[in-house]
Amino acid sequence: MKRSGDLCKIDNLGRIVIPVRLRRKFDLKSGDTLEVFTEENNIILQRYIPSCVFCGNEDNLSPFDEKYICSQCIQKISAL
Ligand SMILES: [Zn+2]
Repeated sequence: MKRSGDLCKIDNLGRIVIPVRLRRKFDLKSGDTLEVFTEENNIILQRYIPSCVFCGNEDNLSPFDEKYICSQCIQKISAL
């Protein structure tokens, strides 16, 4: 993990502001979704990339109960 040199304060509602320099660097725009990961004592933010809930494929996705399922898994489930 690389130190960015930026500091963010948490406000009284638990929010942080991602510094504009980092938003520009990572092409983050208002309305984008970030996924939150934890690793030991660290919180890691990553651009949310939708993937199939069953196999992790990121292509040919259809919404499935607020998650996604790929066309290959739809075919496999349909064949059962
Ligand atoms: Zn799948």
